[in-house]
Amino acid sequence: MESTARSRARICRGCWDQMHVPIPIRGPLALPFRAFGITRSKMNPNICTICERSFRYVKKQRHISATATILFADIRGFTVLSERMDPVILSEIVSVFQDRCAQAVWAHDGIVNKQMGDGLMAIFNFPIKIKHHADAAVAAALDIQRSCTSALKSLELRVDKPSDDALGVGVGVHTGQVEIGEFSTFRSDFTAIGSAVNLAARLESQAAAGEILVSVEAAAQAPELMAGTQTRAFRLKGIEHPVLAQVLFKS
Ligand SMILES: [Zn+2]
Repeated sequence: MESTARSRARICRGCWDQMHVPIPIRGPLALPFRAFGITRSKMNPNICTICERSFRYVKKQRHISATATILFADIRGFTVLSERMDPVILSEIVSVFQDRCAQAVWAHDGIVNKQMGDGLMAIFNFPIKIKHHADAAVAAALDIQRSCTSALKSLELRVDKPSDDALGVGVGVHTGQVEIGEFSTFRSDFTAIGSAVNLAARLESQAAAGEILVSVEAAAQAPELMAGTQTRAFRLKGIEHPVLAQVLFKS
């Protein structure tokens, strides 16, 4: 994992990129901010909790339109496993997965926006701006596959699995227009919504263990990482016509 200055920013990179406001998140200057509840975000250690509130007080906007790349990942076959496996091992598998995924997303300047048990949703290009955000998301997806495969394999050796299928991760990536804001009255975290988010989620649901499905829109933005991949057509729930995606296998 990178440990450059860039990966441990002193000021919030989200507030800086979106508003050009320097909010200290490390070092002595960060202390007075902490007294006001402004601290590092759990979504990415280089952004702050003002970003989590989607700049509500600063921007006075309920939501923002942005072009972003959305990544969904989950552990394939987890539901079946969870019915038969020791809960201690299960929770270990989930925490290893979530931890490895977060490291991979953060290394490429994305945020882990939602964690849903054995799955997660990450956003690239908000609030930290990334010139090549599709590249960043696909690179994070490759890192997720690499680091989860080895970690899950070592956990697998300790359990009697109910089936012969190896534990694996499926990933979906799509680039498009999203609405970012707070859409709940009882939670103050921001999220992204819109058809681009749904498409990324649906692609992920079609990815087999070890696969990364990248929509043609995202693939067009990340041509180098797509070299030599095959294109497949998918029928996705709620989408009338077949959707084309490039299939990347873990190496
Ligand atoms: Zn911030």
